[in-house]
Amino acid sequence: MDGMHAPLQAPAAQTSAVPDPQPADGTALAAAVVEHLLQVAVSPRFKDETTPEALRGIKNFEQLLAITWATRKMTLALSKGDLEYYTPEKGIIIGALKAFQSNLKHLTWQTQRIAGGDYSHKVSFLGEFSEAFNYMAVQLAQRITLLKSTSEEYKNLSYRDALTGIYNRKAFMHFAEEVFTTLKPEVSTLIITDIDKFKAFNDVHGHLCGDEVLKLFADYIAHALRPGDICSRYGGEEFLMLLPGMPLSVGLSIGERLRAGVEKLRLNFAGKELQITASFGVCETSPMPEGVPFDEFIRAGIGRADANLYKAKESGRNRVVG
Ligand code: GH3
Ligand code: MG
Ligand code: MG
Repeated sequence: MDGMHAPLQAPAAQTSAVPDPQPADGTALAAAVVEHLLQVAVSPRFKDETTPEALRGIKNFEQLLAITWATRKMTLALSKGDLEYYTPEKGIIIGALKAFQSNLKHLTWQTQRIAGGDYSHKVSFLGEFSEAFNYMAVQLAQRITLLKSTSEEYKNLSYRDALTGIYNRKAFMHFAEEVFTTLKPEVSTLIITDIDKFKAFNDVHGHLCGDEVLKLFADYIAHALRPGDICSRYGGEEFLMLLPGMPLSVGLSIGERLRAGVEKLRLNFAGKELQITASFGVCETSPMPEGVPFDEFIRAGIGRADANLYKAKESGRNRVVG
């Protein structure tokens, strides 16, 4: 067999993909170049980065080989999700892979921002994937908003008295605690009011009538106070109010204003015009002393206001005692 058509031998070891062709054998040399580049491009086990002796010195071959190696390594790194892999090689394929890598890095950062609750992030690369990603961010934002408003609604419901719609005892305690622990006014006034002879509305006109009285009464007192005041249905036909920053003298005149206003209310029920009156117990509270639990502090205040309410009932009802 002459040297012109000598077949290429398979590499003995992984140090080289090609045997040494004869220098003059152009076909064998081209085949060796192709074979070596093919191995670098497709063989999973091929690891030798050195240029085979026989292929050294071929014009641009070393450069093509370096780019092929770099492309192979970068592609493998990306396929494993390695976003930090770096190669100094340049060129159209490596450049595109680097752009893809940096897009993935940017996407990772945006995903982290979204996970942190910032849903404003949009991506404009990666084609169809961008659309899916942006849609996911919008959906997440919408669901979180819905969830927030639903939980607000539930909180609001749990703070509202079902019949009258004004704050209930739980809400009063929550907001009053905020006042005494955060606002800490120098002085405040507590007013407790109880509808006079309320049982008679139920007994004479039925419970529906009693309910209407409660609604009318609650609506009136809740709207007669300032926005910073807390007005709640404490239970049954008793209502509890806290006027932060108001001394007893002001609390008493507000109580009197409420009493007079209630007296003027008229409920039209089953063709009858019914009048309502209520009694008021008022007391002043100082700031909550250090170390005293809020429950204990507020119970003592309500107890003093309640004692005055009892006096108002005892002394004839439809009056304010403080
Ligand atoms: P006083 O002037 O001494 O306060 O007499 P009163 O009749 O108002 O007080 P009493 O405590 O004897 O009666 C309160 C009644 O309120 C008894 C209870 O059945 C009724 N009541 C409590 N909650 C409701 C409610 O939500 N709706 C209705 N219709 N009645 C209620
Ligand atoms: Mg009562
Ligand atoms: Mg009553």
